[in-house]
Amino acid sequence: MLQQVNGHSSGPDAHGGKALREDLQEFLGQEAPLHLLDDLTKVNPVTLETVLRCLQARYMADTFYTNAGCTLVALNPFKPVPQLYSPDLMKEYHAAPQPQKLKPHIFTVGEQTYRNVKSLIQPVNQSIVVSGESGAGKTWTSRCLMKFYAVVAASPTSWESHKIAERIEQRILNSNPVMEAFGNACTLRNNNSSRFGKFIQLQMNRAHQMTGAAVQTYLLEKTRVACQASNERNFHIFYQICKGASADERLRWHLPEGAAFSWLPNPERTLEEDCFEVTREAMLHLGIGTLTQNNIFKVLAGLLHLGNVRFADCEDEAQPCQLMDDAKGSVRTSASLLWLPEDPLLETLRIRTIRAGRQQQVFRKPCSLAECDTRRDCLAKLIYARLFDWLVSVINSSIYAAPDSWTTFIGLLDVYGFESFPDNSLEQLCINYANEKLQQHFVAHYLRAQQEEYALEGLEWSFVNYQDNQTCLDLIEGTPISICSLLNEECRLNRPSSAAQLQTRIESALAGSPCLGHNKLSREPSFIVVHYAGPVRYHTAGLVEKNKDPVPPELTRLLQQSEDPLLKVLFPTDPEEKSQEEPSGKSRTPVLTVVSRFKASLEQLLQVLHSTTPHYIRCIKPNSKGQAQTFLREEVLSQLEACGLVETIHISAAGFPIRVSHRNFVERYALLRRLRPPTAPGPQSPPLNEGRSEWSPQAAEAALQPLLQDILRTLPALPGAAATSG
Ligand code: ADP
Ligand code: MG
Repeated sequence: MLQQVNGHSSGPDAHGGKALREDLQEFLGQEAPLHLLDDLTKVNPVTLETVLRCLQARYMADTFYTNAGCTLVALNPFKPVPQLYSPDLMKEYHAAPQPQKLKPHIFTVGEQTYRNVKSLIQPVNQSIVVSGESGAGKTWTSRCLMKFYAVVAASPTSWESHKIAERIEQRILNSNPVMEAFGNACTLRNNNSSRFGKFIQLQMNRAHQMTGAAVQTYLLEKTRVACQASNERNFHIFYQICKGASADERLRWHLPEGAAFSWLPNPERTLEEDCFEVTREAMLHLGIGTLTQNNIFKVLAGLLHLGNVRFADCEDEAQPCQLMDDAKGSVRTSASLLWLPEDPLLETLRIRTIRAGRQQQVFRKPCSLAECDTRRDCLAKLIYARLFDWLVSVINSSIYAAPDSWTTFIGLLDVYGFESFPDNSLEQLCINYANEKLQQHFVAHYLRAQQEEYALEGLEWSFVNYQDNQTCLDLIEGTPISICSLLNEECRLNRPSSAAQLQTRIESALAGSPCLGHNKLSREPSFIVVHYAGPVRYHTAGLVEKNKDPVPPELTRLLQQSEDPLLKVLFPTDPEEKSQEEPSGKSRTPVLTVVSRFKASLEQLLQVLHSTTPHYIRCIKPNSKGQAQTFLREEVLSQLEACGLVETIHISAAGFPIRVSHRNFVERYALLRRLRPPTAPGPQSPPLNEGRSEWSPQAAEAALQPLLQDILRTLPALPGAAATSG
């Protein structure tokens, strides 16, 4: 049949015959050059090797986007490609009758989601899940998509309202440099690495214009404030202040030129991210005035000085640790910048107060050197994390549209991809847990949704046997016993337990799980989780403590004494808080552990995602050095495995890749019925003869072209098609 179609359409007058012929040639196995295959479902056979070859060929031909059925694969160009993101190109994708027929691009995904929210029949909220490992291009992609919507969903045309509209779009875009300044840092894998996850909902009104946005963040890596791996840096904002402050500000913030701060490693490197002016300007647009800004920067300078506070070990355990000689000035300066009384600051860092007994007797115990350091770091983390959350809330109040001014949203999710390092801890457990959840969501969406839809339509279909990752999720979060529940139990019992004991507890309590592996070779206590993307070994040392994330109540009390306007907002004195305190000084309300909080926010996120039509963009890093034109097969391979791309392609290829609603199908192809040779209407074919044209084979073929093209485009993606064409 296909041969016949080709025969027909290859006639000299046939409209679209050339495209049809090319499609067909490709389908029949006369292989198109690899770099021209714009959908990985068309490689034959679909294996890691063939997918890799295709992506490599495309990358070397400067083609960075490739479809993988229902997913878009984005290769990081690691070089400026301005023409790929120009407003003109955005408009081209926006104006295209069928954007999916243009070259694969994030704008295709952007436009598709936009058309879905515009659908008159059934507008549904949309989400775009952007995943990939650090440095793969997730944040870049989300930023470009935000710019895309700022162009295509720009608000009204009248000048006055246009100005207002521009303000909101601009404000939404301005949230990026601010959040990146405070939440991104230079790491070994990415000079501008986001140290938090982000979900932004772009809100659209009935006229499909962007009227606002809401941002939600996840798991800020607050430890970075006080502890940076070698050759990594602190959050950008600290460098921006130190490099960008005026002479007057330097004086006020005690940041003389060339001052050395131990929490500010590698300051000599200059990165484009260290751009103080851009951050200040963006903050201004978001309604954070100069006074507040200066307050923020003053507090941050206070943290830098706090980082220079060093203690000396003390032989006598009954005595508090002494300050190192050169640290005295740092305490004074830090206290003055944080507007805290100096002596209580020093005392809080060095002495633990325990209240015990019915009489609430206060016991004071000098801290060890290590404890002093931990308390100092904890103080900085506490301030920074609250400041970050507060900034996010200020941004939200500046960009959030009134509830009655939006009806639908497009959500952009930019979260850490799957991680597996030689040393994995609670951070990786949370990140990989989130990735398991997202993978399950992806599979559920594409497999179950297809199954249900086909059943509804009465279509027979047999599905690929895809392994669900529920077993792995049960191991991590299931009830009654899972890794999360065991970690929480340890925190609740507050018993001293060694890393080895924790390993034994996990292994014995969860021995039945096929996703729990054992690494007998490892000398350090650990356990292995077999994730969908591969096994990861998590060290148990420090896991419980990290999960507790304890904040000594004295630190919060100290900060509540601050006279600084910003710290007053970040640490309000809550009268109820005091009355809830137990004699021991601990809060009576159970403090939520890190995994509990993360689990709750993840569940909330998934609930939102489930209520949307999801789209997936998988970002891939062609090499870890950030070099253009360099495609390292081994490195890409491990990423393809980690994101389960081959399975994704199989899933996409297993279903019907084109799904048109009955109504849309009738609207588009009813014409064919009008063109058929006149016959008596049967019981199945109600009259549809209005405006019928004269039937002729040529007219019928012309009318058939779009349908044939759709079919031809679809065929290679169908199961068995690859084998036929091979
Ligand atoms: P991720 O958020 O996945 O960690 P980023 O989005 O920060 O990674 O990208 C890392 C770097 O790669 C960017 O700072 C930029 O230099 C480069 N990059 C990413 N995507 C592109 C692109 N499409 N074009 C040009 N450079 C890019
Ligand atoms: Mg990022």
